[in-house]
Amino acid sequence: MNSAAEYAQRGSIAVITMNHPPVNGLGLALRTAILAQLDRALDDPQIEAIVLTGGEQNFSAGADVREFGTPKSSSAPNLPAVIRALEESPKPVVAAIAGHALGGGLELALGCHFRVARRDAQLGLPEVTLGLLPGAGGTQRLPRLVGVETALNMIVSGLRVPAKQFAGTPLVDELVESNVVDTAVAFARQVMADKRPATRARDIRIKDPHAEPFLQFARVNVAAVSKAFPAPLKCVEAVANAVGKPFDEGLRLERELFVGLLASPESRALRHIFTAERAATKLPDVPADTPLREIGTVGVVGAGTMGGGITMAFVDAGVTVVLLETSQEALDRGLATIRRNYETTMKKGKLTQEQLEERLARITPVLDYAALAEVDLVIEAVFEEINVKRDVFKRLDEVAKAGAILASNTSALDLNEIASFTKRPKDVIGLHFFSPANVMKLLEIVRGKQTAPDVLATCMSLARRIRKTAVVAGVCDGFIGNRMLARYGAAANLLLMQGALPQQIDGALQRFGMAMGPFRVGDLAGLDIGWAGRKRRAAENAGALPRVPGDAICEAGRFGQKTGAGWYRYEAGKRDAIPDPVVETIIEQFRRDAGITPRKISDEEIVERCMYALVNEGARILEDGIAARASDIDVVYLSGYGFPRHRGGPMLYADTVGLANVVRALKRFAAEPGADAWWQPAPLLVKLAEEGRTFN
Ligand code: NAD
Repeated sequence: MNSAAEYAQRGSIAVITMNHPPVNGLGLALRTAILAQLDRALDDPQIEAIVLTGGEQNFSAGADVREFGTPKSSSAPNLPAVIRALEESPKPVVAAIAGHALGGGLELALGCHFRVARRDAQLGLPEVTLGLLPGAGGTQRLPRLVGVETALNMIVSGLRVPAKQFAGTPLVDELVESNVVDTAVAFARQVMADKRPATRARDIRIKDPHAEPFLQFARVNVAAVSKAFPAPLKCVEAVANAVGKPFDEGLRLERELFVGLLASPESRALRHIFTAERAATKLPDVPADTPLREIGTVGVVGAGTMGGGITMAFVDAGVTVVLLETSQEALDRGLATIRRNYETTMKKGKLTQEQLEERLARITPVLDYAALAEVDLVIEAVFEEINVKRDVFKRLDEVAKAGAILASNTSALDLNEIASFTKRPKDVIGLHFFSPANVMKLLEIVRGKQTAPDVLATCMSLARRIRKTAVVAGVCDGFIGNRMLARYGAAANLLLMQGALPQQIDGALQRFGMAMGPFRVGDLAGLDIGWAGRKRRAAENAGALPRVPGDAICEAGRFGQKTGAGWYRYEAGKRDAIPDPVVETIIEQFRRDAGITPRKISDEEIVERCMYALVNEGARILEDGIAARASDIDVVYLSGYGFPRHRGGPMLYADTVGLANVVRALKRFAAEPGADAWWQPAPLLVKLAEEGRTFN
């Protein structure tokens, strides 16, 4: 008896129940078991019809992700073979669908002759989100059952659709509220009683006069939105074959397209992201069953840019927040900003007035620390000055209840020092949100020397609740993201000094796929903040800090978008970055003053220098144990820094280029006269390259 799929007999009906937790992933064991149970039913003369189900909870969510990339994923019987066996079964097969029928799970159901589904069952073919297309007949059978337009929309978007929306189509023969298995058994009996012929999706001919024009329309539109990703257009091609070619030919071409996509760097990147995001939620030394602390209410200290955004992130997730400020005025200002942000969302039609009021009502504004006595977690987002942080954490230590988690949103201060301001460093953690905190997906969870494992586990789980992508980082200047960003910025700056202009550097990196080049980002964030920091550090280290072109830009009163000019100029009320000859003059003067003769710089060199600067620092971050794995670094860059998804993150990009090539280029940069020491390739990078290995 194979446990991955159970067999039961109900009179003349065999019920095959997939039983492969957690989601009936169609791994080798389940595929083999379905086939074995099907044979058993076919061999038993008492059996007239078969029901295939996952029970009342869940049909199947598709491929088994745990087998991705292992030989098992392609071992016989593969999924197309199992589906063919079901479709060719001489005894009618009825799928009984509850929960999810996704990807290979839906393709399995499409191979059955009839389908009974719960109204709320979720049907979908999400392969495109992994840079693939349904490769087990989905692109051929679904259009035959629901029409070309509906099928193509599902396949290209990857979206799930509730079964009830397919009422009246041959995709669902019967919809039920509950008891899907019993209903399917009764349905199978009725099929036998009525001598109703089994319908095989493959035998349906698509006779839709609108199919061809629709496909043409789809080709144009999909090409326009899919940009760097080949999969969506291949989906259109595959569905077009369902219309224009015989079934077996369409099936063969679908397989060909699937195999081609599987080998594409874009699909590799998307599958990498899928596993990387899941891996990031696990910590080697924090067991999955670590008991969590309960988080009911949350306190936020500071109602500025970050405190306001963090408050919104919690309130949006239904959590009540006690928001503390130093003065009524600052509190009112913070609340007014929050209200204004919600009103903007409301104007876009994404929030009702009632919801807006509900969310604001979840915020309790306070001026007195005593109001934080009962919160389960408090996040500090006050000025980035260690003395201010000391004062806040001492106060929190006095008032917070035992077991409360004390978090800091600091970007660059030493979390261990902050923890030392309290008598409970085990309860102190960094929660580094990104601006705007209610929008940006990334959350760096900063683990101090003494942070307790259950505090970490609780914050990881909390991140999911507020829909953030969390990555754990160790304590260092800039953690993972900003520490790497500093090198990337320095590389861009160097290119500027040596001969490139902001628009060329931004252009090259944007064509590479970055959402925005570093100079446009600078203009958006405001150049004055970095300038103030540089001036402060220069004053502290008497002349140790060399001047950079950004200083000259700021001295000209150009602080970015907010002043209408920075690295670019901006027209009133618009955000378009317009190259400015004044900037060129400032940079040229800067080069003359520094005695630099500009040279011609290629786009390729721009990408190389900026990317390898990121990768090299990423390798150091791994060496230092600041990140647990290379894929965590990729998650940080993808979710917080606009790194192109089709490249899978800086570390996967380095793997794709080949680490030996990265090392060679870094050595070349490091050997230039006057080169900064950080261009030297990190020992880990050199070691992996020498061993012919990769980060991932
Ligand atoms: P901000 O100046 O906008 O807000 C700080 C707020 O804290 C002000 O409203 C101020 O009145 C309040 N405040 C100051 N001292 C206080 C005290 N003792 N008690 C209560 N409130 C007090 O600053 P911000 O940009 O929101 O940054 C806050 C923190 O978040 C800093 O540590 C910063 O490094 C970090 N951070 C900022 C960003 C960003 O992009 N702005 C991103 C990540 C992290």
